Amino acid sequence: MTKILIIEDEELVRENILDLLEAEDFDTLAAANGRIGLQLAFSEFPDLILCDLMMPDLDGYGVLTALREKPITATIPFIFLTARSARADFRQGMDLGADDYLTKPFTRDELLSAIASRLAKQATLAKQVYTKFDAQTLSREVQMIEIYLRRTLEQRDFQQFQVYYQPIVDIHSGQIIAAESLLRWQHPELGSVSPAKLIPLAEATGLIVPIGEWVLKNVCKQTKLWHDGGFPELRIAVNLSAHQLIQPDFSQKILKFLLANNLVPGSLELELTESMIMHDINTVIVTMKEVHSFGVKIAIDDFGTGYSSLSYLKELPIDTLKIDRYFIQDITNDSQKAAITTALIQMAHNLNLDIVAEGVETEQELDFLRQYSCDAVQGFLFSQPLPVAEFENILLANKRLY
Ligand code: C2E
Ligand code: CA
Ligand code: CA
Repeated sequence: MTKILIIEDEELVRENILDLLEAEDFDTLAAANGRIGLQLAFSEFPDLILCDLMMPDLDGYGVLTALREKPITATIPFIFLTARSARADFRQGMDLGADDYLTKPFTRDELLSAIASRLAKQATLAKQVYTKFDAQTLSREVQMIEIYLRRTLEQRDFQQFQVYYQPIVDIHSGQIIAAESLLRWQHPELGSVSPAKLIPLAEATGLIVPIGEWVLKNVCKQTKLWHDGGFPELRIAVNLSAHQLIQPDFSQKILKFLLANNLVPGSLELELTESMIMHDINTVIVTMKEVHSFGVKIAIDDFGTGYSSLSYLKELPIDTLKIDRYFIQDITNDSQKAAITTALIQMAHNLNLDIVAEGVETEQELDFLRQYSCDAVQGFLFSQPLPVAEFENILLANKRLY
């Protein structure tokens, strides 16, 4: 059934359109403002959107701009509803990539014919491009993955997910001091879906929230088992999404998982990227400070690739910086990467932070990092991310770097 999202702040107009569309057997979703509308678009992936132009807070232009920025919502047909007949208004909307506009008040026939013509165009377009372009086939693949992902989550079939662990080794002692948890998804029909596809999709659709919560819960349980099994110092890092961090009950959830497992808070490290922090800096800082006050560690992931201002570093409760793989790769032949990395190590130490290099693949890279006193390394040179049992094996075997 065709799903139509109506974003309109005037209740009367909204209800009217809803009644009309439901009478025509459309599946409908309604939002009373732009923000709710966007959330619904990202989580429900409607076939068409009708959106009022003038709304307080986030107006129709804002909604359209945000939709067009994300691949998963970029191609949803979008029709503006506007009470203003001034040409400049709808011109701006069309320039932003709206497909059509309707000037209020409109008749039932005008509305239905605008919808029908948009849906028909979209269908022809889809037929043409799917057969012609790989990019579109790819996006169809993404749509299919999304459908399966929703089904998996609706059925709460979390057995399809697994957490892998990649060791983080102390560069001086050569011993495993921590591990990063990394999500894996094995679907009965799709096979294993790479995180490079899964995570961006889960982020774009908001589905990362339930998945991320499952990862956190699972990791806390597993960490406790390892602590009790003879590795009481082991720290486990968990990747977070911005969506999780801005959930109002995020820090309470963390506390709940720690208490439920009787886990030392310092054995959990949350990995955040700079862009996640900048996404909603005020909310994120409050949450970071709260979880940090419990004793939970915080790491900045992919450091060096994101935000260019470093001034925020001293405002945030951070314990660890993780230098992005990009800088490590080929570091011994690339003098710029070498200069940046040594500066990052120096800066981290001046700020009293631990520094971990990601993606260490060769002995030469390791030698370089040791020479410049990087604290710890993670990468294929020592180990790939491993399933629980295999990670346990290398812990028990006391596998070392040297
Ligand atoms: P990341 O946080 O930067 O994780 C490190 C990625 O680098 C992992 O990819 C890991 O397998 C890979 N890697 C580690 N060592 C090496 C190396 O020596 N060489 C190379 N070429 N790659 C190496 P993976 O597992 O595919 O994960 C990709 C990304 O997906 C992660 O990047 C992270 O951003 C995201 N992700 C994974 N699990 C989760 C999760 O549970 N929650 C969230 N929000 N994101 C996750
Ligand atoms: Ca990470
Ligand atoms: Ca990283």
